[in-house]
Amino acid sequence: MSIVENLAQIKSSIPDKVSLVAVSKTKPDNLLEEAYQAGQRIFGENKVQELCGKFERLPKDIQWHMIGHLQSNKVKYIAPFVNLIHAVDSLKLAKEINKQAVKNNRTINVLLQIHIAEESAKFGFNQKEIFDLINSNEFNILKNINVCGLMGMATFTDNTSQITSEFKRLKSIFDQLKIQKYNPDHFKTLSMGMSGDYQIAIKEGSNMIRVGSAIFGKRG
Ligand SMILES: *Cc1c(COP(=O)(O)O)cnc(C)c1O
Repeated sequence: MSIVENLAQIKSSIPDKVSLVAVSKTKPDNLLEEAYQAGQRIFGENKVQELCGKFERLPKDIQWHMIGHLQSNKVKYIAPFVNLIHAVDSLKLAKEINKQAVKNNRTINVLLQIHIAEESAKFGFNQKEIFDLINSNEFNILKNINVCGLMGMATFTDNTSQITSEFKRLKSIFDQLKIQKYNPDHFKTLSMGMSGDYQIAIKEGSNMIRVGSAIFGKRG
């Protein structure tokens, strides 16, 4: 199937209120242009250099999301234009994003990454760490970041019940934070679900999915 058909198929199978981030990492510009022609405006990348290059070359009304692990020393390159940073996983990174946002005279939208998977290799805060963070003064004085919600990645497995329970846990943390801490007008994005598990994620409350291979085909 073509990119256009893949996009149409995915869009018809998800509710309108769910945002679709087209994960275009490793893919050449012409494939992003095909998706753009089909109406796609939100693209996700996980490497700073690749993200900056595509931003320079592709249409200016694209909303660029940084979805991958982000090193603090690279924030400055994306700070002028990035629309949403999905994977804030340390206070240090949050501080650097805030600093670069101030320099660029803007507010940068971020999601906090929660570690929900069994695999230890994945980044993110655990439940205790996230509550400590959002209750800390050091974090709360960062006025140039807008905390829009949470992001998480489930374990890479065929075990549907495991994926379901990991997404349930993330949704429950999301709901608690929303009640305890955040204005629901700002804190409203729950980024969970990829090509292999976005249907489960939506069932469990996701309203932003990050889909790569199901749109653009397998990565080499
Ligand atoms: C690559 C990637 C995706 C998309 O993965 P697919 O399985 O190709 O849909 C989603 N989220 C993150 C953080 C990624 O790095």
